[in-house]
Amino acid sequence: MERFINLKGEDIPRYWYNVKADLPFDMDPPLDPQTMKPIDPSKLELLFPKALIMQEATKERDIQIPQKVREAYALYRPTPLIRAFGLEKALKTPAHIYYKNESVSPTGSHKLNTALAQAYFNLEEGTTKISTETGAGQWGSALAFAGAYFKLDINVFMVKISFEQKPARKHMVNLFNGKIHPSPSDFTNYGKKILEVTPNSTGSLGMAISEAIEYALSKEKTHYSLGSVLDHVLLHQTVIGQETKKQMEIAGEEPDVLIGCFGGGSNFGGFTLPFMPLKMKKESLEIVACEPTECPSFTKGEYKYDYGDTAHLTPMLKMYTLGSEFIPPPIYAGGLRYHGASPIISRLVKEGYMKAIAISQEEAFESTRLFSLSEGIIPAPETSHAIAGVVRYAKACSETGEKKVIVFNFSGHGLLDLNSYIRGA
Ligand SMILES: *Cc1c(COP(=O)(O)O)cnc(C)c1O
Repeated sequence: MERFINLKGEDIPRYWYNVKADLPFDMDPPLDPQTMKPIDPSKLELLFPKALIMQEATKERDIQIPQKVREAYALYRPTPLIRAFGLEKALKTPAHIYYKNESVSPTGSHKLNTALAQAYFNLEEGTTKISTETGAGQWGSALAFAGAYFKLDINVFMVKISFEQKPARKHMVNLFNGKIHPSPSDFTNYGKKILEVTPNSTGSLGMAISEAIEYALSKEKTHYSLGSVLDHVLLHQTVIGQETKKQMEIAGEEPDVLIGCFGGGSNFGGFTLPFMPLKMKKESLEIVACEPTECPSFTKGEYKYDYGDTAHLTPMLKMYTLGSEFIPPPIYAGGLRYHGASPIISRLVKEGYMKAIAISQEEAFESTRLFSLSEGIIPAPETSHAIAGVVRYAKACSETGEKKVIVFNFSGHGLLDLNSYIRGA
């Protein structure tokens, strides 16, 4: 039995999969907060290139991946699917556990799948600079690398608490020629306002988004880029699930449970959405998002229209949200500290196609230790929430004797986050 299920370069997907073509309902549109009517797409052109706005709205099923983006993907794709024999043994479970290893990308997480696509479409439309926010730093370093690859200037606003906890990410962004500012910063009017009221603010993703948007709006040929939540971001990430589907066919197994960690929904959506046609045929397939108990958008949030950022510069999205003012406690999984959630995943949870469970930091750390010891790979703190979910399901199988096939997305490695594990030990 093979541990690695590998694909060839020619198997890198040629299309992104747009789940909206196959859903039995229409999504609620983003609203313009001034009129509370569906947003006029031309308003978004201040922030995003037209190609991405089109991808955000279209219901076409297959969106062609430009050749240059496919070539960039070939730096690290296709990524391996790995049978977690070590973890199965450690848990004495009859379940079969597989993980899709997105940590092999040059910046160590799935984020590059959309960073490369977004940089490419910006370049094609004449953008020279992109601003963005980053939580734990994975997104900032991915976009910085994509900027270096396609020759664009990148400005990153990084949540201050993470900037202080994870200095290695700053060096990584700088190494790729990107600029990085701890947020709230005195680089924008919004950041200055926050600092006046709360000089010791640890920041939040919502605040950093507000700063990055203000920066993009105030500069020529500058666009803004978001690393999660929006439909086009999940779309780009569907290369993960499409490859996984093929790899499961090679393995000769069909998943019973799909698991991913959940911040804004990009790795989870990219991994699971290509399985929605299967879910519509096979009701028993469980699709499970693992969110932190400290930022429980699904399990404690409300499904309603809300802003994506703290300063209310974004359109309103229908999603599960803890409120745009919510500032999560400073947990180590910085990439999971977002008040809202992808509208597509929110709707699928609301309709019962998918579900969410909350995982505490302690449970995540414990599962990480077990995984690292048995598989030899150290997961990102975000990813460890997915592993904790896997461990729960696999333990349940040990009790019932069920041989479920559990597949999860290994969204990133934790080699730049080791200090969080030392403190968690
Ligand atoms: C950013 C990140 C996440 C959370 O973001 P999603 O958009 O929910 O995927 C999870 N894992 C890793 C490794 C990340 O970098």
